[in-house]
Amino acid sequence: MAKRKIAVIGVGKIAQDQHLPVIDQSEDFELAATVSTRGVGHHGVPVFKTPGELFAAMPEISLVSICTPPGIRHQYVREALDAGKDVMMEKPPTTTISELDDLVAHADRLGRVLYQTWHSQYNAAVDRTKAILAEQGVVSARIDWRESVRKWHPGQDWVWEPGGFGVCDPGINALSIFTKVMPFPAFVSASKLTFPANRQTPIDVEITFKSGQPHQPVMSAGFNWLEESGEIWTIRFETGTGDVLRLEGGGRSLRINDELVLQHGDAEYAAMYDHFADLLDAGRSDVDAAPLRLMSDVFLMGARVNGPDFEW
Ligand code: NAP
Repeated sequence: MAKRKIAVIGVGKIAQDQHLPVIDQSEDFELAATVSTRGVGHHGVPVFKTPGELFAAMPEISLVSICTPPGIRHQYVREALDAGKDVMMEKPPTTTISELDDLVAHADRLGRVLYQTWHSQYNAAVDRTKAILAEQGVVSARIDWRESVRKWHPGQDWVWEPGGFGVCDPGINALSIFTKVMPFPAFVSASKLTFPANRQTPIDVEITFKSGQPHQPVMSAGFNWLEESGEIWTIRFETGTGDVLRLEGGGRSLRINDELVLQHGDAEYAAMYDHFADLLDAGRSDVDAAPLRLMSDVFLMGARVNGPDFEW
């Protein structure tokens, strides 16, 4: 079968690190164009400055993968849906829940496929954790998500602007795992957001969660963006039968009671493109709003702390 032609919109770090190499290797997709305000192309495909120019010049491309920061996403996704395209979008989907709701309704109205990716959900160790927690229950959960903003978002000033999420940009990856694996809903009971005095988004966040469960599980999370010793992307669960599960490496390994039971490499983006192909075959959308909802509650419940200035 001929490969499906796809265009990548926004050729920044994640497009270059993951989307373009994965499409290059894909059996389902072939890159047909890029849209880049800076004119960044890939292997000689046509490059357009705006989505509108792409849609006018190459109407045969019916799929787009939108890899921009979230602030521009609502406008770009709407424009793509209106042009009759099926759309895959990077996380976090949008900067507000009402924008995401609007995109879901709009795609549905137009009969287009809309796929909201959450890359951290595409790990076998995450699925195994979900299955164990469904059987054993949860009595406690602790998320520790610490990384270096200088390594993962070098020079990206949008992360510090309102709607840029700050450390909640990686933190929402943890919440995307948390909301996927939890056997019952967790709610934000309190959060403390530390903002660099010269920036608009937090650099450190502490959250406590509550639930409607009578056994009152103890659940919390900490996100930090100044970790220079390497990534700490860990979620620890104590189950109802006393086992301790440690999901480490952003969801790529699972330890049960200190024994490594599952470890695998990074196949998140390949799995996402496989899933997009399946959704296109089925003519079905897939938008999981739970991580964005929970994160917006973190901001709604947030107590503000002023921290030192941040400079790159
Ligand atoms: P980035 O390096 O800043 O790239 C984003 C690109 O989008 C820009 O280079 C620019 O590309 C384009 N763009 C279009 N409109 C823009 C605007 N108004 N402001 C800024 N850029 C605009 O960011 P990124 O790290 O790739 O992140 C993009 C998305 O991927 C974010 O939602 C992020 O959460 C997600 N993500 C990032 C990582 C990571 O490791 N950094 C990992 C997973 C997911 P052109 O010049 O080509 O137009």
